[in-house]
Amino acid sequence: MTEQKYPLHWKKKDFSIKIFCSIPNIATGILLKAGKAHFVIDPGDGILRDLNKEIGVKNLLEISDVFVTHGHHDHVGGVWSLLTYLRVMQKKSPLTIHYPDGCVEIESIYNAFKKVYLRSITYKINLKAIKKTNGYTTNNITVKPFPVIHKEYLSTGKMRQVPALGFNFVYDGTKICYGGDTAYCAELVNHASNADLAILEAGHDEETPDEMHMTMKEAVSIGKSAKKYFLVHVPE
Ligand SMILES: [Zn+2]
Ligand SMILES: [Zn+2]
Repeated sequence: MTEQKYPLHWKKKDFSIKIFCSIPNIATGILLKAGKAHFVIDPGDGILRDLNKEIGVKNLLEISDVFVTHGHHDHVGGVWSLLTYLRVMQKKSPLTIHYPDGCVEIESIYNAFKKVYLRSITYKINLKAIKKTNGYTTNNITVKPFPVIHKEYLSTGKMRQVPALGFNFVYDGTKICYGGDTAYCAELVNHASNADLAILEAGHDEETPDEMHMTMKEAVSIGKSAKKYFLVHVPE
């Protein structure tokens, strides 16, 4: 239940998720499959290597959506290489990147990519900045984003809330809840409850809760409300 040996894999009929990696400050990388559709969640460093090994070039070119919980480098470090690889391999179908409104990292990577490869991009990239957390359907999966609490330090030593989301993914009546990086919060408690699988970070290694990550105890308490859970993003 609290296994942490990567990759972590979960499957119900033709709905499955594979977490290649989830280590704070290093990298995250998740593949979600619903029927024939492939989605990528939090493409951190190494995502291209892992996807290539797992699904091969043909399926990689058919990836329709990328979901980003927030802009920290351990969640977006692989976006540039993914976009560039898809260009080199001549992707034709569109790609939508879903991310929290205000996530300057994704918009900056996208803008730089457009600028550098202006004349050689072979596919359409749709940026979907999520402002409202209404549910919507994209390529046969229903997505329900929800706000989470995740702060970071500024150079002044003060903290600020990062634009950050968790996502519920529903396919064929099955629900996967992925909280992204988050402190303990009511939204996550609500959305993880009764999920077929909850993927919960336990990135805070001390007993005193902070406003960035959850302690193991907090993550487990939420996990128990789901039918099954994985604890991820535990410091190594
Ligand atoms: Zn992280
Ligand atoms: Zn983070």
